[in-house]
Amino acid sequence: MNRTQLQKNSSETGKCVIYVMSRDQRVSQNHALLYAIKEAESKKLPIYVVFFYYSKVKSRGYRHYKFMFEGLSEVSENLKTLNIPFLFFDHNKLVELNKLNPESVYFDFSPLRGPRAVKSNFSETTAASVKVVDTHNIIPVWVISDKEEFAAYTIRSKIHKQIKRYLDEDFPGFSKLEKVDVPKIDAEVFPTSEYFEKLLVSFPKEGLYKPEFIGGYKNARNQLELFIDEKLKDYDELRNDPTKNNQSDLSPYLHFGQISSLEIVKELLKLSNSSLENILKKESLSKEEQSISAFIEELVVRKELSDNFCYYNENYDSIKGVKPWAKATLLEHQSDKREYIYSQEELEFAKTYDPAWNAAQIQMIQTGKMHGYMRMYWCKKILEWTKSPEEAVDIAVYLNDKYSLDGYDPNGYVGILWSIGGVHDRQWFDRPIFGKVRYMNYGGLKRKFDIKKYETKFASLR
Ligand SMILES: Cc1cc2nc3c(=O)[nH]c(=O)nc-3n(C[C@H](O)[C@H](O)[C@H](O)COP(=O)(O)OP(=O)(O)OC[C@H]3O[C@@H](n4cnc5c(N)ncnc54)[C@H](O)[C@@H]3O)c2cc1C
Repeated sequence: MNRTQLQKNSSETGKCVIYVMSRDQRVSQNHALLYAIKEAESKKLPIYVVFFYYSKVKSRGYRHYKFMFEGLSEVSENLKTLNIPFLFFDHNKLVELNKLNPESVYFDFSPLRGPRAVKSNFSETTAASVKVVDTHNIIPVWVISDKEEFAAYTIRSKIHKQIKRYLDEDFPGFSKLEKVDVPKIDAEVFPTSEYFEKLLVSFPKEGLYKPEFIGGYKNARNQLELFIDEKLKDYDELRNDPTKNNQSDLSPYLHFGQISSLEIVKELLKLSNSSLENILKKESLSKEEQSISAFIEELVVRKELSDNFCYYNENYDSIKGVKPWAKATLLEHQSDKREYIYSQEELEFAKTYDPAWNAAQIQMIQTGKMHGYMRMYWCKKILEWTKSPEEAVDIAVYLNDKYSLDGYDPNGYVGILWSIGGVHDRQWFDRPIFGKVRYMNYGGLKRKFDIKKYETKFASLR
């Protein structure tokens, strides 16, 4: 199966093959690493894995770097066992890679503009071939579709048609390579957890953050096992109830690529007696299989739809990215009276009149992860309480990227535009402020769950 996009073709020869690890921070089932090793072996060249560290990425802080460094120290250990030098650069000058005279440089794929610009800028500076490998999605974004998909139902059939081939493909394990000399370049070689702890000191600690998740592949696997043992059976029924915490909590691991969705789906399918076809069609399934089916819908269809949106829509994190009907209806209601208007600061510190909204904001600040159902409510309320949809999107993006461990992710941008701008959703009845965009209110939360229980759990920002 071809997962590679050729960013730049070159017939120049070089002295090594490089994989620039970025979005997929793992060794397990990493196709970019696999392809780089294969090419290096066939050309009898050494392979190096490199990581460029950006100390300032949007509103990210201590929590993200802590989680990421935990994962990277495991990557470093794993690569050491394979005799593959792992070079960690504490700056973002990729051009320095050219000092190693690479023949090919592999990148993992991201649809977001920052990482895409890095690849194309680097391509301009190098004589090497540059290849981009999608090892984040089960089916590479450009293979599933060549355009922005309208909604989940339009991409679902395309995914269902192709997914079997990708799930059937074996991923060969990695074996130890011949030891090679570490190149002389200004980078930390095989960074250790002590090295990362020192780097973390430069980020102000967040007093309000009480970490619940520890990064890394091993912890991702533990999280998956916990989900399978304790939550999977009831996932379909309970995942939307914020008082039950019955989601997988895998999103931080998936976001940093510490585990792949491909590996998760393969594990889940081992638990099912039904065929993949029946799981996808939701036919004749046991309770647990129904949950597997619902989970695959989220993990594959919804998640890969998000990558599709960000890949084909350059305005993925702005109100400009929504459909014309949504732009028109929101504009029509732009001057509707808002009962409450809150500033970004009031929202950030959970100072609204609404205890459920405040609880959701507090959950995100304290744990690094807001419950999925509350995320929709949280975001829609921001539209109701700010002066314009533009401002609402900007504040939601800022807060989500700053406090969610899984933030700065296509799923986040699409979740925000779904909530505020009806992306991938249908039109509803016209109403104040929201126009034809789907609306949610506190009454709905009260009817569906014991929302007071959730409010009590996250009652104060301390
Ligand atoms: C306003 C808003 C903001 C969001 N921000 C983010 C974000 O920053 N990062 C993020 O990963 N997700 C985001 N989501 C999507 C979704 O809420 C989370 O993926 C989910 O809650 C993560 O928790 P989990 O892994 O326990 O979910 P589970 O229910 O266990 O789902 C498993 C996986 O499926 C995928 N998934 C689940 N729901 C969705 C969805 N609606 N869209 C796309 N993929 C999905 C995720 O990869 C998730 O980890 C957002 C949704 C909204 C409405």
